Amino acid sequence: MNATTTVYPDKRGRFGEFGGKYVPETLMSAIEELEESLDQAMDDPEFMEAYKDHLREFAGRPTALTYAKNISEKIGGASIYLKREDLVHTGAHKLNNAIGQALLAKRMGKTKIVAETGAGQHGVATATIAARFGLSCKVFMGAEDMERQALNVFRMELLGAEVVPANSGSKTLKDATNEAIRYWVTHAEDTFYLIGSVVGPHPYPKMVRDFQRIIGDEARAQFLKRENRLPTEVIACVGGGSNAIGTFYPFIEDDVKLIGVEAAGKGIDTDQHAATITHGRKGVIHGSLTYLLQDEAGQITEPYSISAGLDYPGVGPEHAYLASTGRVRYDAVSDQEALDALKLLSTEEGIIPAIETAHALAKAFERAEELTPEDTILVCLSGRGDKDVHTLMKHFKEDKQS
Ligand SMILES: *Cc1c(COP(=O)(O)O)cnc(C)c1O
Repeated sequence: MNATTTVYPDKRGRFGEFGGKYVPETLMSAIEELEESLDQAMDDPEFMEAYKDHLREFAGRPTALTYAKNISEKIGGASIYLKREDLVHTGAHKLNNAIGQALLAKRMGKTKIVAETGAGQHGVATATIAARFGLSCKVFMGAEDMERQALNVFRMELLGAEVVPANSGSKTLKDATNEAIRYWVTHAEDTFYLIGSVVGPHPYPKMVRDFQRIIGDEARAQFLKRENRLPTEVIACVGGGSNAIGTFYPFIEDDVKLIGVEAAGKGIDTDQHAATITHGRKGVIHGSLTYLLQDEAGQITEPYSISAGLDYPGVGPEHAYLASTGRVRYDAVSDQEALDALKLLSTEEGIIPAIETAHALAKAFERAEELTPEDTILVCLSGRGDKDVHTLMKHFKEDKQS
């Protein structure tokens, strides 16, 4: 690693003006304990080795780099390559991070994991690794989300986790997060709080990035080996931003264009989208200063996207910083554009991607057309679409009827 990539975040957990630790006094000692343990663990070769062992033996890494031959030829512009995080155990990149944090929890002597989940994907990854490591696991989930995502609730329970309904506010992710934090404050002695994306107070955004950069580290080496050069562009979808930063981070110092793709939902000119960076304003959410969706009075507004994993009102502070410096470009892709891309990847390449991932694919197909056959695009295929078939069935059936 070179100088610039190690500068951020600074000692106060800031990425430029973004990030930080906006937490109540009661959480400070737990956060400081975590910060200290994390620094020690990251400097301990044995810890990093154990982390990589679990990635290999349990998660199934390294994942493949796949040339999307049929679509690339059909488009006739840049060649598209897919980093296959859909092949990770449980079907998405989220387990990379859950393994790292659960390993740290064990090292810190914690016996219990607490987490929150929106659509349930992070909850499933957390329950999975808790089962494997023999840790007890409590997952807070909005009561409304539990109804919408009954299958994931059942999966978590099957894995031995306890799913606790959050009944406050809008009964969704925001409320589940508040209740998970409240639980952690009073149980920090034996409990580790496992966050699912590059959000929250320092050191979470840095920790999650460092456990997800395995995506970019592998992809960069695989691409170099295969093509003898780096890709022209790297593209990933952005919810909280963990698969994107994990993919981008090892390319930050390279002469490679980086594009993050947010959810434009039903359109950025409606109020039904989740385009936090491209259409949000600065504010504090879940312990960190970043861009977020808020109304005139500064109240956080409900985001919308057809993909539950992109449906978050904030975004990781490092993305806010990379947007402000212009190093990464952020665009938004609508529900419909994502669904079209999902269908194309399924029929042409035999891979059904997650709807989240399809946002990155839509942008990649558009860029491929604008570039030349000498150019190459690397896309992070963050997850598989099996979890989405219900949504897809409903949508594609309605399409046929209209
Ligand atoms: C959760 C999820 C995302 C969004 O989370 P990030 O932290 O932005 O990566 C994207 N893709 C898939 C498949 C997911 O499960």
